[in-house]
Formats: sequence, structure tokens, C-alpha cells
Amino acid sequence: MADAVYLDYNATTPLKPAVYDVMAEAFGDVGNASAVHAYGRRARSRVETAREQVAALAGVHANQVTFTSGATESNNAVLKHFAGRRILIGATEHNAICNCPVDLELIPVDQDGLINIDAFEKMLETGPAPALISIMLVNNETGVIQPVAKLAKLAKAKHRDVFIHSDAVQAAGRIKIDFPGLYADFMSLSAHKMAGPQGVGALICAPGTPSVAFMHGGGQEKRQRAGTENVAGIAGFGKAAELAIADMAHYQQLGVWREKMERALKEAAPGCKIFGEGAPRTANTTALCMPGLPAQTQLMTLDLAGIAISSGSACSSGTFKPSRVLQAMGASEEEATSTLRISSGWNTKESDIDAFIDHWTAMVRRLLPQSEKESA
Ligand code: PLP
Repeated sequence: MADAVYLDYNATTPLKPAVYDVMAEAFGDVGNASAVHAYGRRARSRVETAREQVAALAGVHANQVTFTSGATESNNAVLKHFAGRRILIGATEHNAICNCPVDLELIPVDQDGLINIDAFEKMLETGPAPALISIMLVNNETGVIQPVAKLAKLAKAKHRDVFIHSDAVQAAGRIKIDFPGLYADFMSLSAHKMAGPQGVGALICAPGTPSVAFMHGGGQEKRQRAGTENVAGIAGFGKAAELAIADMAHYQQLGVWREKMERALKEAAPGCKIFGEGAPRTANTTALCMPGLPAQTQLMTLDLAGIAISSGSACSSGTFKPSRVLQAMGASEEEATSTLRISSGWNTKESDIDAFIDHWTAMVRRLLPQSEKESA
């Protein structure tokens, strides 16, 4: 599409050209990273370079990085390890946490999507000691940033042995990640949310944590994750991690454009609402609710205009069920089915944001009765 506008970076991101180049080079080569010959050693070197690069992004030592097939696998590995014991998770976690087939207790959030501290403390004080608490660093639908370090410290002060996991998929490349500063024991990352390839991710573990090995077979990844390494994917992930560190400044710019966009949308339709607006958010995400205009209608209208956005998480788009995340934040069913997610990234230009503002405001003027535009 010649003038296509892609604003769905929280679903997946375009590869950066340098990532593509590193992967193309790896695909052009042969070699199992476990083989001892020169080909194998070259593949191994690609994997270990990537490990250093991902470790630098997370602020950890390379031996704390285990490559996986993505964040779904990383999340599942941690949660399943603690199956049968008490596990607390944030109410707005991704399906890759919520749908894991283990018993989970939801920690309520407030209307901005932040963990409700009083409710959290009460959960820590009642019932058996939790074995694991999983709280995402950044929400995929709203961009809301949870104070993971504060919550982890609070939990560990009450229960010394509790393990903390954080799904940091939507934080990587968008805000600085300092794993030791989060006071977490495990953290999940995914390459394709940060200009890397789909189907590769990582689990970061604090020193001394138990093995949460999930795949069994060969001795790859220090016996943490069996299976021949996806060398090209891992190499691309590493390059993406390296570039993400340098690219953080672009997110300042995205924040300026986002502010301009949100102001323009509210001026054009005073009845619209932005979820998570009162909380710290990543600079690239807006959850925009226009009551009276179903997200499905908005998505299709904008798609015809060449604008790619999403409603809620990618996993539930297409089904158009009310967003579970927004409902946990107190949204009505109508609000939770009338919300779009606009998410920008490394290759977004100001003209993309301007095109969205123009098409969205024209759509609202065309499709929504005057009374609804003005009342929330
Ligand atoms: N966690 C969050 C917050 C996500 O946004 C996603 C992707 O949508 C995932 C986990 C799943 O990641 P992956 O696609 O690498 O399995």
C-alpha cells in the first residue's frame, strides 16, 4: 500500500533493515550451534553475541539470558513451574499469562490500570504465602507502566521467599529496563515487539533462581530450554536489542506526537476517552474509546483508508469480545468494545500521526450523531 499507515506496533513491529541483514547473513550460513566444527562455532558465536546484546538491554549478565520461542513460552515456563502453589497476577495481564492452565488469583487494578496497592497488601496478608507474583511492566492495550519495583519490594518484605515475574514485552525498547532494579526474579521478553523477528524471545532469570525448564530434550541453553537454537532469529533479536538501546530517543519524539494527537482527538470529539491517561504510560500507546462507535466499525473504516490499528490485544482482535483489560479498569461493556489501540514505533513519522488524526476525526463526524460526540 503506497500511503499505508502502520500504527499497530504493540501487535508486532517491522524489522529494522540492520536486523534483516544480520538474519539474512545467518540464514545464508549452515551450522548447528551445538556442533564442534567451524560451521557450528560460527552459529554458536552468533547466539552468544545476541545473548550479550539482549543482556545489555536488560541490564543483566549474559548467563542470565535464556532464549525461547517468544514471551508466551517464557511466561508459561515460569507459571507452570509454580503450578499447585499460590500464584497472584495483575488483573490486566496478557493472555499469555491469564490463559495459562494453572490456578491464578487476580490482583485488582484501579481505573487507570495500576495495581490497587491496598487490595494487593490485603492479598499478601491473607491466605497462604504466595509462591509467585506476576505483574507486567507495561500493558499492551494501554501502555500503562506498573511500579513493579515498588510492588516487588512490598511483596518480598512480607514474604521473603516469594518469586516475582514481570512480562516486560511491551517495555523493551520503549522504556529503559533495569532488571536488577525491578527486584524481580524472572522477566519475559519478545523480539518482535522491538523490531526483531517473530517466534523468538527470552527469559531473564536472577542469579540463584530455580530452573523453570519447560522443554526437555537436548542440553541447549544450559539445559534451560531444549531444542536446536533458532540461530537466525536469535541473531536478529540480538541486533534488535542493540539498536533498541540507541533508539530510545525516538520515543521522546513519539511522546510529543502522541500528546498532539490526543489533544486533537479530544477537541474533535469531546465525548472520547483515553484509558490509562492518569497513569505513567509508554510514549507510543493510546487506548482511545469513542462510545457509540464500535471498534469493529472503526477498524474497518480506517483499514479502508489504509490505516492499520488494533482493538485491544492482537490475540483477541478479530473476535471483538469486550476487552478484559479495560473491563478490569472499570470500563463498561460498551466502552470495552468501542476502544481502539493506536501504537507507534521506530519507523513512525509525524505524517502517520497526522493521517490518523484526519481520518479518525472525519470518520467520527460522519458516523456518530452530534449528541454522542459530545457526551461520554
Ligand atoms: N506479553 C505481552 C504483554 C504481549 O503484548 C505479547 C504479545 O502480544 C505477549 C506476551 C506474547 O508474546 P509472543 O508473541 O512473543 O509470544
